[in-house]
Amino acid sequence: MHDFSTQAARPDVDREELEFDVLFVGGGPSNLAAMWKLLDLIEAHNAKPGVKKLEGLTLGLIEKGDEIGDHAFSGAVLDPKALKELCPDFVAQGFPSEGEVKQEEVWLLSSERGGFKFPILPPNFNNHGCHVASLSKVVRWMAERIESREVPGVDVMLLPGFAGIQVLWEENPDGTKRVVGVQTADKGVNPDGTKKNNFEPGNALKAKVTVFGEGPRGHLARELVEVLGLDKDAVNPQVYEMGAKEIWEVPEGQVPEGFVLHSTGWPLPAGESGGSFVYKMAGNRVAVGYVVSLDSADPFVDAHLILQKFKTHARIAPLLAGGKLVQYGAKALAIGGWNSMPRLAFAGGMLVGESAQMVNAARLKGIHLGMKGGLCAAETILSALVEEDFGDRSLMRYAAAYLGSWAGAELRATRNFHATVAHGLTPTAMLRLAFAQVAKGWVPGDPLKSKEDASCTESVERFYGKMGLKNGERDPGVKFDGEKLIQKLDDVYLSGVMHDEHQPAHLKIVKGDQVCVSCWETKGSPCTVFCPAQVYEMHPDAQGKVSKVEIAFSNCVHCKTCDIKCPEQNVVWTPPEGGGGPKYTLC
Ligand SMILES: Cc1cc2nc3c(=O)[nH]c(=O)nc-3n(C[C@H](O)[C@H](O)[C@H](O)COP(=O)(O)OP(=O)(O)OC[C@H]3O[C@@H](n4cnc5c(N)ncnc54)[C@H](O)[C@@H]3O)c2cc1C
Repeated sequence: MHDFSTQAARPDVDREELEFDVLFVGGGPSNLAAMWKLLDLIEAHNAKPGVKKLEGLTLGLIEKGDEIGDHAFSGAVLDPKALKELCPDFVAQGFPSEGEVKQEEVWLLSSERGGFKFPILPPNFNNHGCHVASLSKVVRWMAERIESREVPGVDVMLLPGFAGIQVLWEENPDGTKRVVGVQTADKGVNPDGTKKNNFEPGNALKAKVTVFGEGPRGHLARELVEVLGLDKDAVNPQVYEMGAKEIWEVPEGQVPEGFVLHSTGWPLPAGESGGSFVYKMAGNRVAVGYVVSLDSADPFVDAHLILQKFKTHARIAPLLAGGKLVQYGAKALAIGGWNSMPRLAFAGGMLVGESAQMVNAARLKGIHLGMKGGLCAAETILSALVEEDFGDRSLMRYAAAYLGSWAGAELRATRNFHATVAHGLTPTAMLRLAFAQVAKGWVPGDPLKSKEDASCTESVERFYGKMGLKNGERDPGVKFDGEKLIQKLDDVYLSGVMHDEHQPAHLKIVKGDQVCVSCWETKGSPCTVFCPAQVYEMHPDAQGKVSKVEIAFSNCVHCKTCDIKCPEQNVVWTPPEGGGGPKYTLC
């Protein structure tokens, strides 16, 4: 287990303690839905005659991005099911839709020119009634709606620029642990750990309930899962995909309004799993992206490279012709779903959204499922506030409500999806998908097992040998031209990423540099390839030897792939001081 106890320790510092009734960690759609709904519920509760009023409450939300929305990254086609429950007239309320889905295509690609379009839409890709959206704009809109509310008896504090670095614990009389809040990261620390003149100690944010909505591979969620054993009843480990996306401005009329395309197959190597998306946005913009599974055998699985190749396909290239690249981003995506879900609540806290694997990988959708998590969490928090009971059993009502809701049913019906397609659309996978369709997710062998992503990586010789390449040879990749086919670092520039370089690296090498050196010698340092922001580099000296991995952490777009896929599990992603990271506005 990673040692979470020392990462933020600084005995020489007095930390200010701030008290909240409810604290939300992470400003994504799941937590913002929870906070919005909780405000509605408190207002409705206090309006009832004869009930004990909830007064003097403080609700807080911290977000590591400089502004809410800066780190929000998705596809996205948004299923409005949960949003309608939260805000039935969301369009009239100014929801930033990029357009309703009107025209859909699903392709199985076989080569740069080949492939076939499914004559009938597979049910999971029927997106009619959904909206194309920029998640960055959606969460900014949600935050504005929350800030504009005045609910008597409730103070709301949205605190962007603050990263939760460590869970705060207390011990119950029976020796079990309960969560009492989080500590935020110190600011103004030199790379060697000494204080700068502008040093600001992180605060101890104490709360009766802390809701963790950190997205995929949350750092604090990881601490909670490990310390409390929240995954002990899960069928499968938490598993992930990695997605890279570009946004293009194309000539007017080139891509029809409401156009949505998905594909799988080429350019993925045989036996690998993933797929593409092309979504028409407002203002002649098009989002084009690729997600690849991180339980890939390919040591050099590289979503950015696969995306570049995908753009050359005969069906895709004309959609982007004459266009200009305007933004890039990348992020992991939790895909284990129902079979990988950890326990959703515990004394003093809850997990919502992707931190709890609330994603339907078969539909490439998690926003509505995470939002529904937020809505169910808010209902339970209201009861807990009324009853003043924040223990495990009280908060576990949230888990029962979520798993018994339409969101639970959707996740259960696709519980075997990822394990089914983990090696691509093989004939067995097709058969299983057909079974799952008619038998509400049941397939022969149910429940199908998945393995931890990092453990699936094969050696370079074995994987590339299977592709017919000789020892040491790699897939030749693509010819970057700087216009259509973009080098990684040029793309990264368009993510707007920025960190103060004079702080300790937030990517921690936990087992020592020697492990990276031997990985370079024996495995070719996969991190130098799979990282979508080229953060990791190995620089051999004149004798051809390396002594350590170079980490350009200021390029890090907070995707978490290294934490997930490092074959040696030698990297732990921790939040940098608040405010650093990408600056997404359209993603
Ligand atoms: C390539 C790609 C395509 C996708 N396409 C779609 C799609 O088309 N439709 C769809 O519905 N879903 C899609 N998804 C999934 C969807 O984006 C997620 O399921 C959804 O955003 C999860 O919401 P969340 O609130 O749980 O987490 P997130 O959206 O990840 O938000 C978490 C927030 O918490 C912040 N945070 C994290 N840790 C801390 C900390 N310690 N302290 C403070 N702040 C912290 C982060 O900065 C972030 O802003 C896609 C995902 C990817 C990667």
